[in-house]
Amino acid sequence: MNTKMLASCSSCGCKKEITVHGGINVGEKPELKALVKDGTLFVWDCPSCGSANLATYQTIYHDPSERVMIWLLPKGLLPEDKVAELGRQIEASSDFPGGYVFRRVSDVGSLVEKVNIFDAGLDDTVLEMCKYVTRMEMAGKAGEKDLGSAQLKFYRTDGPDNDIEFSYPLNGQMHGVRIGFNVYGDCAGILRRNPSIKPSGGFPVVDQAWIARFFG
Ligand SMILES: [Zn+2]
Repeated sequence: MNTKMLASCSSCGCKKEITVHGGINVGEKPELKALVKDGTLFVWDCPSCGSANLATYQTIYHDPSERVMIWLLPKGLLPEDKVAELGRQIEASSDFPGGYVFRRVSDVGSLVEKVNIFDAGLDDTVLEMCKYVTRMEMAGKAGEKDLGSAQLKFYRTDGPDNDIEFSYPLNGQMHGVRIGFNVYGDCAGILRRNPSIKPSGGFPVVDQAWIARFFG
């Protein structure tokens, strides 16, 4: 499943042959999970100038034990109707019994976040709702409208009460915000009472824009 491709350094343009993982099955190769979670599977160093580059290619992350399949598809690689059709075909394949979660992301950071979410045993639709609520609260408290669109990413759960930690970039630096697990419970309740708020289609994208469609 692995192939090679020529990648160009984003700093100096120097080319290097890198390994492309066509599929990442952490059931067959458990050691790959840690390399996905810290991003190193996708990072390559330029032999000429030493810059660290992020490889951009499509791949499918598959965790059979968590029953999760995440398609990393950089934007613009395939037309949207092809993506949906292909996604539905894979979902309908008999290789994947019921109960599978299928997701699509367009960048490595979002893939890492999804893996962290499912590893923590959490539901990413509920977490998007939590982020939505948290952004509103942050914007209200700080009186800064910019925070209302902060790109929150799930980082981890922490402490005896399973507090949820998000990270987000602001003015070139990473920041963190922590919420109680009760918020997660409240958001899960809201989604249960509103069954129309659910992902649909082949390999749906569940992100900030997705949740915003329901609370515009
Ligand atoms: Zn370089």
